[in-house]
Amino acid sequence: MESIYPSVYRLQHSAGSNGYVVLDGGRVAVIDPGLPFGADAVLRELRSAALLDKVTDVLVTHSDVDHIGAAPALQAATGARVWLGRDDAGLLDGTRRAATGFRRLLAFWPVSPFEHGLTLLDGGEEPFPGIKALATPGHTPGHMAFVFREVVFAGDAVLGTPRGFRQLPGFLTSDRDQALASERLIEGLGARWFCPGHGRLRELTSGVPRG
Ligand SMILES: [Zn+2]
Repeated sequence: MESIYPSVYRLQHSAGSNGYVVLDGGRVAVIDPGLPFGADAVLRELRSAALLDKVTDVLVTHSDVDHIGAAPALQAATGARVWLGRDDAGLLDGTRRAATGFRRLLAFWPVSPFEHGLTLLDGGEEPFPGIKALATPGHTPGHMAFVFREVVFAGDAVLGTPRGFRQLPGFLTSDRDQALASERLIEGLGARWFCPGHGRLRELTSGVPRG
């Protein structure tokens, strides 16, 4: 694992999106463990860091398979609670229709069932000590960012580019007005470390230029 900030690491072997680990005393949270086929590598990585049996929580920014896909295997291995925004839960079980044609195609890539169920977030909760859930809808209706001290885990609410923040393409965006409002919300946090779901991590030293 790559150290990013005190108690915060980036997974090296997750597939499809950036995955992160946050430590608190004897407990471990994993944020966005990635695609299903990367689950074994994530389990191995956590085991070799002697962290696997300490995982109590898996925090998922949103229901896209490249973020949540490995979460069922991680829950099966550890019994961890898996946290997801309430408005994304219906996208997983098919009771809510995805907002774009491309998203409806993506829905054919299924996510395995959760042996111990999901714990749903509305935003404002503290699903793990020191981590606050921040409702950031737009990319998906139930998208959550997670804030830990000076670090923001932004999921797909915004992309990190060398020059600043950028929105994901429209065919992946469920609601553009909400997405732009969520981007402004994240920008306004004044966080020092920006950890996106895709693209590079950035230390935000002097404000955030538009990319
Ligand atoms: Zn996504």
